[in-house]
Amino acid sequence: MLPAQEAEQIILDLLLPLSIPKDTEIINLQSARGRILAKSISSKLDFPYWDNSAMDGYAVRYEDVQQASKETPVTLEIIEEIPAGLVPQKAISPKQTARIFTGAMLPEGADTIVIQENTQRNDNLVTIFSSPQPQQFVRHRGSFYRAGEPMLESGIALDAPDIAVLATAQCNELTVYRRPKIAILSTGDELVTPDTPLKPGQIVDSNQYALGSFVSGNGAKPIFLGIIPDQPAKLKAAIKQAIAEADIVLSTGGVSVGDYDYVDRILEELGGQIHIRSVAVKPGKPLTVASFENSGLYFGIPGNPVSALVSCWRFVQPAIKKLSGLKNNWQPTFIKAITKQELRSAGKRETYVWGKLNIVEGIPEFSLAGGSHSSGNLINLSQTNALAVIPIGQTSVAAGESIKVMLTKQLSN
Ligand code: AMP
Ligand code: MG
Repeated sequence: MLPAQEAEQIILDLLLPLSIPKDTEIINLQSARGRILAKSISSKLDFPYWDNSAMDGYAVRYEDVQQASKETPVTLEIIEEIPAGLVPQKAISPKQTARIFTGAMLPEGADTIVIQENTQRNDNLVTIFSSPQPQQFVRHRGSFYRAGEPMLESGIALDAPDIAVLATAQCNELTVYRRPKIAILSTGDELVTPDTPLKPGQIVDSNQYALGSFVSGNGAKPIFLGIIPDQPAKLKAAIKQAIAEADIVLSTGGVSVGDYDYVDRILEELGGQIHIRSVAVKPGKPLTVASFENSGLYFGIPGNPVSALVSCWRFVQPAIKKLSGLKNNWQPTFIKAITKQELRSAGKRETYVWGKLNIVEGIPEFSLAGGSHSSGNLINLSQTNALAVIPIGQTSVAAGESIKVMLTKQLSN
């Protein structure tokens, strides 16, 4: 049995990211959120585009107001009013000023802004009662970004601030990696779809839905191949189709040592090379990882609903991230937290127990989900956001102690 970190490394080493330009597409800025930039961006424009005012006030020549104070105020003639969006028509000569508003272009001759709070206006005259710093409240052209410099690197996931930057650079269309295609199939004679009335012995194929949602949540495109019965011929045909269609295949069930567990054998028959058969984790010990020439990776995931999701979070997520073109941050996020309850493990495998991570006055706290921690109990997995990790060799962690926690969701608080 392979330790989790070694398994993760094997998986990452087996995968190549999507390639450029074959696996890219051009999209509109409006649909860019979460997409991975495939081409670095630089802009032809400086930012700010031109010298402009950071405040509402008066555009002045510093030397005119250098000596201004309550005792020796300076009065200037207002020659123009410049709201944001208009081009100044006049240059500022000695003893002159222009009324100016936030974001408006600085007029020629002016080099400093006096904020309106330090002034008193009387018709076309304004009196200034304190001396500003030279160049105060002027945002200089190109001071945030110079045209031609690198702006956004390829391999980053785009979020609101990046999209704002792209908009500013007038980059309406951009080249991103296509979404990875992930085929999902559920194996098992006992499985039925959620809209089928249950007969005795049957169970609903929840994995198809859980994995579909996991895949979409990671920016990839699920291909739903449905339920495949435990019949070698049918399973083989489905797996063959899945490998041909997808970048990654996820099948659940059929990877244990039971009489109906055919997946590994079929993968070998199809020419797959099996790199991992089990990992030293609980839940999720049976995990088959196979590669095929000129195609992506195959993950044979255990059927138990909790094991299936834990395997996805721990091992499939890094694979999807690397495949998708992301430059880094493929690994799951682990943080330190204080456990509120005692946590137990048999000690033989790295053990994951599910629960909720809350940040309480800045301190991460882990609360174990109530109810059974059986790998078949998906009920109390709902509304959790983290797995506490009990290392191999450790059988308990006392309440109040510090533990490593793997996030399964973004924290919302
Ligand atoms: P297996 O790995 O095929 O031996 O399945 C282990 C357990 O998980 C069995 O109790 C199955 O009924 C259950 N199971 C397998 N596949 C699914 C699925 N797609 N959805 C929900 N439970 C499943
Ligand atoms: Mg089965």
